[in-house]
Amino acid sequence: MKLFSIFGNPVTHSRSPLMHNSVFKALNYDACYTRTELQDGTQLRKTFFALGLSGANVTVPHKEEAYKACDEIRGFAKKVGVVNTLINENGKLIGYNTDADGFIYAIEEFKNIKKVLLFGAGGTAKALATRFIQEGMDVTVVNRTQERLLYFQELGCDTYNWDTFTLSHYDLVVNSTSAGLKDSYLPAPKEIVATVLDNSSYVADAIYGKVTPFLQLAKEKNIIYKDGADMLLGQGVLANELFVKGRLKKDDIKYHMQKSFAL
Ligand code: NDP
Repeated sequence: MKLFSIFGNPVTHSRSPLMHNSVFKALNYDACYTRTELQDGTQLRKTFFALGLSGANVTVPHKEEAYKACDEIRGFAKKVGVVNTLINENGKLIGYNTDADGFIYAIEEFKNIKKVLLFGAGGTAKALATRFIQEGMDVTVVNRTQERLLYFQELGCDTYNWDTFTLSHYDLVVNSTSAGLKDSYLPAPKEIVATVLDNSSYVADAIYGKVTPFLQLAKEKNIIYKDGADMLLGQGVLANELFVKGRLKKDDIKYHMQKSFAL
C-alpha cells in the first residue's frame, strides 16, 4: 500500500485526507492519505522519508521550505519557488505546485478579470500573483510585512504594506493570508478591507469550509464571493494525478473528490 500525507501547522482542519482517500477507495487504488502536523519546516524532508511516503501535500506555513527540501523542481513551481505537492521518485524528492492552476479553475466563473488585489505575500500569494501576471492581469499585493513584498515588486506587481496602501478599483480581491483560518482577523485593518471591497466586483478567499470575517464583510456588502473550496478541488485533482502517475482518469478523480465535499 502506498502512503501519502499532508504536512502543515495547523493541519487538523485539512480536508485533503478525506478528498484523496475517497478517490483511492472508490477507484480501488491501494493507498492511504494521512495528516502530519509539522512544527519545524526544516524537518520536512527527513520526516517525509522517515514515514515512507510515496507523495505528500504541503500547506501553511511550509510551502517555501518544501521547495528547499526537494532534489528536483518541475513545472510552475520552478517559477515561483513554492511547492505544495511532493513526489517520491526512486528516493528523490520531486516538487510541484498545483495551487495556481487550482485557483484559475476556481475563478473561471468570474468573467473579465483584469485587475486583481491580493491580500497576503506568502507561498500561496506568490503562486497566484505569478500566474495572474502570466495571464496578463494587473496585480496589486497588500501585506502586513513589507519585507515579503520584494518578490512581488520584481514580478511587476504594485505592492503596499498597510501604511502605504493607496486605493484603486479591482475586478477581483483575494484573501491569500491565513487571517481567518484559525482566528477572527481580517487580512488587513478594517478601514482598508472595507474600502477595497467597496471598489471591487468579485471576492475570493483561499480559506475554505467557513465564512471568514473577510467573506462576511463581502457578504454584508452584497459582493459576489466564494471560499477556497473550488481551489482546493482544483489543486487536489492535479495533485492526485501526480500521486497515481496516470493510473486513474482525471474525470474519475474529479468526480470522487468532488463527491467527498458532501461528506
Ligand atoms: P504563508 O504562511 O506562506 O503566508 C501567510 C500570509 O498570511 C502572509 O502574507 C502573512 O503576512 C499573512 N498573515 C498571517 N496572519 C495574518 C494576520 N493576522 N493578518 C494579516 N496577514 C496575516 O501561508 P500560505 O500562503 O501557504 O497560505 C495562506 C492561506 O491560503 C492559508 O489560510 C491556507 O489555508 C490557504 N490555502 C488554501 C488553499 C486551497 O486549496 N483552498 C491552497 C493553498 C492555501 P506576514 O508576511 O505579515 O506574516
